[in-house]
Amino acid sequence: MTLPASAPRIHTSALVLFSGGQDSTTCLAQALSRYERVETIAFDYGQRHRVELDARLNVLRELQSRFPRWAGRLGEDHLLDAAVLGQVSECALTRDMAFEMESSGLPNTFVPGRNLLFLTLAAALAYRRGLQVLVTGVCETDFSGYPDCRDDTMKAMQLALSLGMDRRFLIDTPLMWLDKAETWALAHSLGEQSGVPRGGDALVELIVEHTHTCYLGDRTHRHAWGYGCGQCPACVLRARGHERFLQPRTSRA
Ligand SMILES: [Zn+2]
Repeated sequence: MTLPASAPRIHTSALVLFSGGQDSTTCLAQALSRYERVETIAFDYGQRHRVELDARLNVLRELQSRFPRWAGRLGEDHLLDAAVLGQVSECALTRDMAFEMESSGLPNTFVPGRNLLFLTLAAALAYRRGLQVLVTGVCETDFSGYPDCRDDTMKAMQLALSLGMDRRFLIDTPLMWLDKAETWALAHSLGEQSGVPRGGDALVELIVEHTHTCYLGDRTHRHAWGYGCGQCPACVLRARGHERFLQPRTSRA
């Protein structure tokens, strides 16, 4: 469901599920380069660490100040209370548990139904705000294999939301088939096309400095790829992707 760059501009407005991490920031940059009106949404569901919620405000501020063309397209930011998730799920993101794999083959960071709920809430808001496209950074090439991030799930949600609200929604998933190195490269490419001199480097620097991915909420250790503990699965993935992104293209696998 990733749109080619040459796709006709039938859709002009989007709501980006924006958590303040690397992936959703890249999705937001893509939406700002593609759609005329872009709003953002996030959910507060008792995450163990609030740094991600703080990070998203910093990213929004930096995007606005450093990318003037995008600033004109960036509209309202919405933070919805989804605390009900904490009542139905016991998982490592909302409780103080160690990260491990469960017998189901899924990591215990999996919150059943979370993305389905988020997309439903996002669609309800998009309906009210007259926004046509839902943009989300879900990815099948990620390490976790979350079933609610898969392409088939997104296609089914697109159909269910469109039928259930009698409004044609498009779910745009620009990262679905990208690995983390390619996600860094996409950000660089979007920055280059932003109209800002050396915009590619500027966007990569912004993502390194201001986005947050670490599961442990660590903002004290600064690495070449950004802040984080460097040990948790999210940090390892981000670090490896950044390292491969920096390698010359010819030596990339
Ligand atoms: Zn970490």
